[in-house]
Amino acid sequence: MTDDTITIKIKQGREKPIRQRHPWVFSGAIEKIEGHAPDGAIARIVGADGSFLARGYLNRKSQITARILTWDEGEAIDDAFWRRRIERAVSARKAIADTACRLVYSESDGLPGLIADRYGAWIVVQALTLGIDRNRKKIAQMLMELAGARGVFERSDADVRRKEGLDLVSGVLAGDEPPAQVEFCEYAFDNRALKFLADVRAGHKTGFYLDQRENRRAVARGCAGAEVLNVFSYTGAFGVHAAAAGAARVTNIDSSADALAQARRHWEINGCDAGAVEFIEADAFQSLRRLREEGRRFDVIVLDPPRLAATAAHVDRAARAYKDLNMVALQILKPGGRLATFSCSGHISADLFQKIVFGAALDSGRGACIIGRFTQGPDHPVALTFPEAEYLKGLLCRAD
Ligand code: SAH
Repeated sequence: MTDDTITIKIKQGREKPIRQRHPWVFSGAIEKIEGHAPDGAIARIVGADGSFLARGYLNRKSQITARILTWDEGEAIDDAFWRRRIERAVSARKAIADTACRLVYSESDGLPGLIADRYGAWIVVQALTLGIDRNRKKIAQMLMELAGARGVFERSDADVRRKEGLDLVSGVLAGDEPPAQVEFCEYAFDNRALKFLADVRAGHKTGFYLDQRENRRAVARGCAGAEVLNVFSYTGAFGVHAAAAGAARVTNIDSSADALAQARRHWEINGCDAGAVEFIEADAFQSLRRLREEGRRFDVIVLDPPRLAATAAHVDRAARAYKDLNMVALQILKPGGRLATFSCSGHISADLFQKIVFGAALDSGRGACIIGRFTQGPDHPVALTFPEAEYLKGLLCRAD
């Protein structure tokens, strides 16, 4: 059955992005909406001449009035559709050995609005749009079955839900209730299994920064004997990977006492040397300056701030903040030391980020070379038709 009770007609001249398989239909591109189905319903999207373009779900309350699910006129949005898409996404992650990874990444997996992350035997989902929210119980059952999980927990508490007219909710969606701390493993660069814990109820995002997994391994490589500074450490995962690679000492800085308590747990459960770690609960901007004034110097610095540019309007202010952090970080690197610096702001392009770090290097008085580049892991794919999915970027720089 094709559930097209509603038709969205696109304005003349505005069909091109849809034909090029961009999955968002902005309100400004719509000529008219015909039919009376409620928001969340499946709509037939047609060109100015009435010809079929795509099928997606509708939300009149959102600026992104429709999100496309298929460009195939013969493909109905029924249970078999959801199952096919989830199956494809889950099987694309089969090669990932770590027991935590992103199983479904929204538009990139043909399921706009749906995030599903696996932590051991549990899956944590975020239904970010009304079209997904309406189907989330069914999706949870399918995920549990197709990924072989014990339960699915919902963390639909991201603010973007409000733009869809949705409340923030969390709780068990299917199967068993997860424990307070869900244990999983990430492999170190030398294949040793490292243990981590996700607080799926209160942790950031769905509980952990899965997008940095590959980068933690890459940065750890070459940390043997190093004095490592892990700035914006959250639960200390970069530091644990560095310690597993033989770092002499790790200093974690974060403003959150809860994050640092979890970082201490991660340090302990991986059998790291209790005398070779330091936890500094402080504002990173001030703390970096204090370390500089104290004459502390490091072999490796990881700089992984939160999203400093939440919207395009924040780009200038964020650029100044990134520049400041990177400048001080470069100043406290030992000669030949390495800086792994990240930005997870989608509004700051890789190009702009490199310019910001260039400016920081000039102001720091230190010469530096780029010796590596980072992006999000392969479980956070970027559909060629949807470059907006790429948000994490990073540079590995070696100071002179
Ligand atoms: N690198 C981490 C993820 C970092 S998330 C990982 O691999 O898991 C960003 C972190 O920055 C959060 O833990 C947050 O508590 C912290 N944070 C935000 N603003 C801060 C500030 N001004 N100073 C120090 N830490 C801050």
